[in-house]
Amino acid sequence: MNKLSSFDRPELIEQLRNNHYDLLIIGGGVTGAGIALDAASRGLKVALVEKNDFASGTSSRSTKLIHGGLRYLKQFEIALVREVGRERATVHRLAPHLVRSEKMLLPIITGGTYGKLLTSLGLMVYDVLAGVEKADQRKMLAKDETLEVEPLLPESRVEGSGLYAEYRTDDARLTIEIIKTAAAYGADSINYFEALEFLDEGGQVAGIKGIDHITGETSNIKAAYVVSAAGPWVDELREIDKSKQGKRLHLTKGVHIVVSHESLPVRQAVYFDTHDGRMIFAIPRGKITYVGTTDTDYHGDKNHVLTNQDDVDYLLEAVNSMFPKVKLTSEDAISSWAGLRPLIHEDGKSASELSRKDEIFESRSGLISIAGGKLTGYRKMAERIVDLVAKKIKKDDDRHFEKCHTDKIVLAGGEFSNAGEVDEYIRQIHEKIKAYGFDEFEANYLVSNYGVQTDEVLERMSNIQEEDHDIRLAKAELEFTLNNEIVFGPLDFFVRRTGRLYFNINSIDKVKPAVLQRFAEAFNWDKTTAAQHEKWLETAMFEASHFETVKV
Ligand code: FAD
Repeated sequence: MNKLSSFDRPELIEQLRNNHYDLLIIGGGVTGAGIALDAASRGLKVALVEKNDFASGTSSRSTKLIHGGLRYLKQFEIALVREVGRERATVHRLAPHLVRSEKMLLPIITGGTYGKLLTSLGLMVYDVLAGVEKADQRKMLAKDETLEVEPLLPESRVEGSGLYAEYRTDDARLTIEIIKTAAAYGADSINYFEALEFLDEGGQVAGIKGIDHITGETSNIKAAYVVSAAGPWVDELREIDKSKQGKRLHLTKGVHIVVSHESLPVRQAVYFDTHDGRMIFAIPRGKITYVGTTDTDYHGDKNHVLTNQDDVDYLLEAVNSMFPKVKLTSEDAISSWAGLRPLIHEDGKSASELSRKDEIFESRSGLISIAGGKLTGYRKMAERIVDLVAKKIKKDDDRHFEKCHTDKIVLAGGEFSNAGEVDEYIRQIHEKIKAYGFDEFEANYLVSNYGVQTDEVLERMSNIQEEDHDIRLAKAELEFTLNNEIVFGPLDFFVRRTGRLYFNINSIDKVKPAVLQRFAEAFNWDKTTAAQHEKWLETAMFEASHFETVKV
């Protein structure tokens, strides 16, 4: 059985029903995925359930940076900046194709939040805390140098800038590659399986009763320990466990909008001030530039978080003020995403002031929950949880597990020794796909998404009969994801496996019929089911690019 083949799901369900696990994880975002990999690689018997698709929660809706959180210095979150800052280089090493170095420009603006001295000092502290290598350390640029690097900045207000290094990623791809790597160590991870209730043995949580959203069947999964890594839903599970006391979550919404790169042609990522003292990013990526994020309290439906017109107006105002030559309007926003930060509530603090630290809650029933944190820190969060669980198992039945060694486990697709090898591989892939009429954009896209697995995608492509090369490539990617990345519908494919909804929305219409047809064939969909999936895709495309006005 290939645990992550969409076709082997019935066997996987059978296995989940029959096994008794050391650890069951609820939530297939980056936190749950990281815990699964850490635990399985130390020798624990692990299962993970995700109620929707992997990474469909916050872990596909972030700013997609592996970063140390420069702005947290302002809040004196020194330990957080040190930990995530140092993690950047590790995560880059584990998946150099997916976690790519990205220069970040921090303009110093007349009347802005930081002057030259503070910016320079802040970036220096950041370099030290994050252990940044010499070549990547901050550079302070004078006004004319800054305008040369980024001519879109307002000449009359720019005083200079700081140039420093971060990493860019695709959060959903990072999550799925961690899940795949965990599967290689024996973890049984399943999507579209929701934990409904906890199984109880003598007052202690002993597994879950869950529902399979593909078949509608319910099953029990038994485990010695259950960890909830349910992100924004952590408190819901604590309520089911009747343990929601003391600290609670505080959800804030963060929105990003996508415009074509032509309409906001920044040359590198820019991290800049907004009128209300916050800071946002403009990040170029292939054919598009994305801008974000907002940070507002959220009390709506956690399963359906939408970008509204106020979010878009706020981001456009910030962009148009920092890049006065561009004059963007709502019509320029071709796509968007909105996500929820599962932060820990602190009385009297506003959304932006809340700490981004992670916290672990242990209930009397034995349920362990983890919330907060950053994508960047997923490995360290996982280490803390697995240390805790391993200690408990050792006490229960004197079994010993290895220490955390995920800093040495290369993620699926990431078998490169350095970033230079990734560039060379992109060049080779470009040579191979030229014959199909593809250029560097596709080579970059394929390698960033799949790493060395691009060879398998191209192998599949060579076996597909299809005149149109765009459709042929999409079909090859779909075969790859059906066989290796447990997809069940076009949204899994277009949003979380290929990122097309965000980074290349205009490519979807052409390839959509072929993708829908293959899904229908693969899962024997009747007409009604096929039509339902098409409608879901169309709704997602519409909602990403049309924004509601909020009535107050
Ligand atoms: P999630 O990804 O939400 O995963 C939880 C999962 O649990 C969900 O998929 C959900 O479906 C599942 N679940 C819930 N209930 C159940 C149940 N009953 N049964 C089964 N499954 C269930 N961090 C960075 O490092 N860099 C950034 O650039 C960055 N930018 C951000 C920008 C924004 C706007 C936001 C909102 C966050 C950002 N973050 C960033 C933070 C980062 O994205 C989050 O810390 C991280 O993705 C949280 O992952 P998670 O796995 O804890 O939660």
